[in-house]
Amino acid sequence: MSYPTQQFHPQIYIGGKWCDAQSDQRASIINPATEELLGEVAMAGKADVHAAVSAAVAAKAAWADTSGQVRAGYLRAIAQAVLAQRDQLAQLQTANNGKPLAEAAIDVEDVIATFNYYADLAAELDAEQDQQVSLPSSDYRANLRREPCGVVGLIVPWNFPMVTAAWKVAPALAAGCTVVLKPSEITPLPELALAAIIDQVRLPAGVFNLVTGSGAEVGAALVAHPGLSKVSFTGSTAIGSAVMKSAADDLKGVSLELGGKSAALVFADADIEAALDIVCGGIFFNCGQMCSATSRLLVDKSIAENFIARLKQRIETIVVGDPLASATQMGPITSAQQYQRVQQYIQQGLASGARLLTGGGRPADLLKGYFLAPTVFTEVPLDSAIWREEIFGPVLCVNTFDTEDEAVRIANDSDFGLVATLLTGDEQRAARVSAALQVGLVWVNSGQVIFPQTSWGGMKKSSIGRELGPWGMHAFQEIKHVISAVRK
Ligand code: NAD
Repeated sequence: MSYPTQQFHPQIYIGGKWCDAQSDQRASIINPATEELLGEVAMAGKADVHAAVSAAVAAKAAWADTSGQVRAGYLRAIAQAVLAQRDQLAQLQTANNGKPLAEAAIDVEDVIATFNYYADLAAELDAEQDQQVSLPSSDYRANLRREPCGVVGLIVPWNFPMVTAAWKVAPALAAGCTVVLKPSEITPLPELALAAIIDQVRLPAGVFNLVTGSGAEVGAALVAHPGLSKVSFTGSTAIGSAVMKSAADDLKGVSLELGGKSAALVFADADIEAALDIVCGGIFFNCGQMCSATSRLLVDKSIAENFIARLKQRIETIVVGDPLASATQMGPITSAQQYQRVQQYIQQGLASGARLLTGGGRPADLLKGYFLAPTVFTEVPLDSAIWREEIFGPVLCVNTFDTEDEAVRIANDSDFGLVATLLTGDEQRAARVSAALQVGLVWVNSGQVIFPQTSWGGMKKSSIGRELGPWGMHAFQEIKHVISAVRK
């Protein structure tokens, strides 16, 4: 199979039209598996952000006035169009992001499920509106309304470009908000394809706008724009903090989905074969570039020697290479910059005294592309950078524990608190440890399955707010109560 040369719009999308950015600066979009140029997109600026926000402001009242049923119709049409183009969309994501085609296909399915799910929630909104709240007094009646919060800025990263966009665009549109989406400058092609789909289903002009460009220019201008009511951001913890500071100037609402350094805990009573699969998936899926990567592995000391030896064997069979080839299990890292960053962490790991179990460099047969062998360190100092900081690459750090309490204590000893994976055959232990872990989501004896119905987000420096489920839509709604005196 060869790389797709799909058409994508090299322009920005404002007020229901494709248009040129005001500057003629362009960004090169690179295929990380081949280091070849995929195309160029607009590097927009402040004036373009202003035009996009103005279009969203102009469309705000009419969109907020549409019924939930009408909005559901558009969301279903988007899901249908994504379904109709799923193969091309998967190929485009693989070309731009480097993930194996089978993983890109999972992303596309997730996008479809997300738009359909929020279509259902939008459709239910009409019946839920103005519902009476029970009061302790018959002298008053109180009705609850959920209203869209207005124009929202949506900023997303490069690791799951279309999915992170769908998790924001679908609930925001369902709630009745108008949006300006800013994709990552590294992977804007999947979102440009989503914009083309939104254009195709004839969403009213100005309801959805997309501006490509750098974070420093377009992202910062969007967050600072006084026309926005809210910013929903997914990206690094450092930039999330900057976004929150900027939004504080005019007290915009913020939702933040940030980094992680999550733990997988393997107890001696676990199904070892399943645990090996789940541990590998938790760190090598998407080349480890997951906010939810379980990059810290804690293994019960009584089984550690055998488990780590089998883990090494299994990891050394992972097929790294061309993400379009059906046998490939791990593609390249998505950008040259991230490739360098991960390699620097590997150097820090070696310097920290941790033991390199496997990997650590470029696979010998892959001379081009940002490829790295799956890498594992054991005996990792608990105060080292590789144990404490998010690496965002295929690097697993392993330690052991003696007791359940110690496992929980080490797992919780982190600035982050996104997810955790628990591998145990003891249901009571699973319940105890799930309750004790300071994270937003625990998978028990399960890979990282995600449903639109369950929440996404974490504690500590990982998140502010939750995405997905009804909470994902509530994030784009204001609550209003109408309390009326009852005439007797
Ligand atoms: P990043 O923070 O560098 O960039 C994210 C987005 O913010 C990009 O679109 C970027 O252009 C924009 N941006 C950069 N500077 C900005 C500024 N000053 N103002 C406004 N926007 C700005 O993150 P990244 O490298 O693209 O993505 C990787 C990070 O994303 C990791 O930390 C990962 O954990 C996190 N992430 C979190 C989740 C989650 O759900 N918690 C999901 C995916 C990725």
